[in-house]
This record gives sequence, structure tokens and C-alpha cells, in this order.
Amino acid sequence: MGFLTLPTWFAKKPSAARPFKDRSQIRVGIPKVLNIWTTHQFWLGFLMSLGIASENIVFSSDTSEEQGREYGKGRGTVDCCYPVKCISGHYGELIFGLKKKIHILLSPMIHSLPSILHGHVVDTLTCTRVMAGPENIKAGYMKGRDVFNENGIAHVSPFVSLGDRHMVTEQLHSQLKDIFNLDLEETSRAVRDGFTALDAFTEKARNQSRGILDWCAQERKPCILVLARPYHMDTGIGHEIEGDLQAYGYPILWLQYLPGDEDLMKWLFEEDLDSGRIKSPFDIGDVWQSSYSSNTNEIMWGAKVAARCPWITAVVRLSSYECGMDQPTYTPAQKIVEATGTLFFKFGDLDSTKPAGSVRIRVETIVHYMARYSEEIIQRKLARLSPNCPVPRATA
Ligand code: SF4
Repeated sequence: MGFLTLPTWFAKKPSAARPFKDRSQIRVGIPKVLNIWTTHQFWLGFLMSLGIASENIVFSSDTSEEQGREYGKGRGTVDCCYPVKCISGHYGELIFGLKKKIHILLSPMIHSLPSILHGHVVDTLTCTRVMAGPENIKAGYMKGRDVFNENGIAHVSPFVSLGDRHMVTEQLHSQLKDIFNLDLEETSRAVRDGFTALDAFTEKARNQSRGILDWCAQERKPCILVLARPYHMDTGIGHEIEGDLQAYGYPILWLQYLPGDEDLMKWLFEEDLDSGRIKSPFDIGDVWQSSYSSNTNEIMWGAKVAARCPWITAVVRLSSYECGMDQPTYTPAQKIVEATGTLFFKFGDLDSTKPAGSVRIRVETIVHYMARYSEEIIQRKLARLSPNCPVPRATA
């Protein structure tokens, strides 16, 4: 079934009543890449609000060498950035690897991101390579012949500013109205439902992180913060390094879901707020002036939180290939974290192959240092903070 037949499904009935648009048979594939890792709930909420059945919304698998080899081979384009190159395999899996074919491959060009720092930084833009990734990878499937057309799949890559919510309805309506037969009103409703789903998920994840900190405080145990970009949650890109550490009994917090509760933030940043060094706990102007890139901003903020939060005794920094966006942040992030004696470990240039041996040795090193120094780090950081700790702590 070619996608050009889709409009005929929704041909208007000769009735004055608003026709019911049955989209329950449409299957949509979404490559699980880049910033989809932190915005997937928006896309689920949006599509389900339009009447797409949940079982017909398909995400590709985690990145793997097999996926790239089997589905992405020969589809490479010019990008040398590993997380972007991987998208070829995800596209191929959705086009060739599913038993039940999809009709639409939805690969949004995300321009800006929702962020806990929104309003406190210059902007919350995505990396330009991330932004352009979908069109770049699409080109690899249009070389010589149009693979999408041959497989009856419509490739849609709406440019969308998820960090600027007031723009999203207009953006998605204008770019998706033909493919989904959308009117403005239902687009607006679907966008609202998408953000409701995303916000609910994010809040739940942040509450769970707060629960981890509460547990650490009560049990006098340390935890580890992962400072990385959203796609490092992909087991084929982040290589589950945090999972290896968790297996030693150390809870893991991801930067993207750090709790931003007012009581906790005011306590951690009290001294900086009182001195006027920052205007709010989410202000990173003291360490990062050109705060336009969302994930970069959050990395710098996460480093500040880690430096202050007593129970985060170690930071694990992940980074892929020779990323130009990450390069300027390496030294400042490390200096911020280490300023309070918090342990800092970096895994840079992560690529396709998991260097299992060296990762194991480094994980053992991290575990050794955590076991040896965590109690001291916790006490030192607690001593720097006011005694009015909002986290219930174990009595000595
Ligand atoms: S942040 Fe760096 S590694 Fe990530 S997509 Fe952009 S250029 Fe590539």
C-alpha cells in the first residue's frame, strides 16, 4: 500500500457532521534515536490522541552492530558523528525488518527541547547535527532509487520546536496535515495530550530520582550521576556502563531526570543564591555564558548539582566520538565536580564496539574509589551545607 493512497481513506463523507477519522489501521514507525530518548512520550501521546492504536506505534530497537550491519549497510551519508550515523540502521530496521509493515516513518527534526532550565538559559536548542539528522539519513535511502516509495512508506520529518510549546501546534499541523488529514483543532488537542504525557513521565522519573536520594540519605549510601546526552541511554551507544556500576549496588541517577524540587534546590544552592552569584538554582550563568544548547546546558547544571549534593559521590561522564559540542564542556564540567572532592570519571569517544575489557577495569576502579572515599565525601559536602536538610536523614 503506497502512502499516496492514504488520503483516500479519509475522503470526506457527504455529510454536514464532522467526519470521524479512523486512523486505527495506520502504522507509524519512529527511529529510537537522539532526542527521541527524552521526548518519546510526547510522540506517543500525540499519535494516540489522533487515534493511532498504541500497538501500531513502533519504535526501532536499541542500536547494535548487527542492526547497522543488517539494515544500514551502504546507506551511509556524509555525517561522521557516530550517534547520527547509527540512525541508518534504525531506518532500515523499520523499513525492512518488521513483519507488519509501517505506513509512515516519523523522524522529527527536533529544533529545541523542553528543559528544566527553560527560562534560566539563553535557549534550549538541539545540536545542529541532531536537528538535521533525519534529512541527512533519508538521503542514504534515496540514493539511486527511492526506497521509501518502493516500500509504500511515507517519510515525514517535521521540524518541531518542542522547547517552545506555543509554536508546536502550528508546526505540526502545517507539516503533517496532508499525511494524517489533520485539522488545526485536533492537532492542537493532540499536541496538548502529547505534552501532558511527556510531563507526566518526566515528573514521575524525577520523583523516582528524588526517592533514590532520600534512600541514600536514610541509608547513608552514595549514588552515581551519569552526565551524558539522552542517546547514551541507548545500550548500543552508552554500552550500559551505568548498568555495570549499578550491579555493584550503587544507585544511578541520570542527568535528564534529576529532581528539581524547590526545597532540595534551595538547600543545595543556598550560598550561591544568598551571595547573588546566581539568580535561581537553575541559573548556570556563573559557569556557562553561551547557554543556548539544551543538552550542553543540562550537563553544566548537572555538574553543579553533583558538586553540591552530598550523596552523589561520583560522576560518570559519557561522550561519543570526537564530539565538537562536548569538547568545550569537558574541562569545566570536571573542574566543577572535582571542586568539592566529588569523584569524576570520563568515558570519551564511545563508538560502536564496547571495549568490554577496559570498561570492566575502569568500572572496578570506580567501585574501588567509591567504596573508599564516599563516606568522607558525603560528610564533607554535608558540612558545607546548612543543617536544614530537606531530605530525611538517618540519625547517626
Ligand atoms: S552532540 Fe556531538 S555526538 Fe551528539 S549528535 Fe551532536 S555532534 Fe554528534
